[in-house]
Amino acid sequence: MKKRRTWRYVCDFCSKGYSKEKYCLEHEKRCIKNPSRVCEMCEQYNLGHRTPEEMLMAMKVASRLAGRRYFEIDQLRNISHGCPLCMLSVVVLDNKNRGLNRFSEDAFSIDYAAERDRFSQECMKEWRRLYAPLF
Ligand SMILES: [Zn+2]
Ligand SMILES: [Zn+2]
Repeated sequence: MKKRRTWRYVCDFCSKGYSKEKYCLEHEKRCIKNPSRVCEMCEQYNLGHRTPEEMLMAMKVASRLAGRRYFEIDQLRNISHGCPLCMLSVVVLDNKNRGLNRFSEDAFSIDYAAERDRFSQECMKEWRRLYAPLF
């Protein structure tokens, strides 16, 4: 038997571990806790690219202009183009900035499954709008 030391690659944002650097880098790029993450769902549906940091900033600016509390679910949905992963990443970032976790009383949260269903319905609608006339 041989005993061998091996490297473990750990995500800077969520502490998930990998045996291969490549996989860790791929994960980090899209990690829901990375404030500069690149969203695979937005890429897939061509929703444009905005980082969680940029979206949170946009929310704060928009609500200040409207004189509202900055965290409204409709506004979050709007700013993230309804992408459930982006919505989640903004919530995670905002809670972290405020030193809260998702179990804290003042923490914001979203119903991820419901947002995902809503999003896929919107995508289907859009798909029909674009392609239905062709059939
Ligand atoms: Zn991670
Ligand atoms: Zn997204």
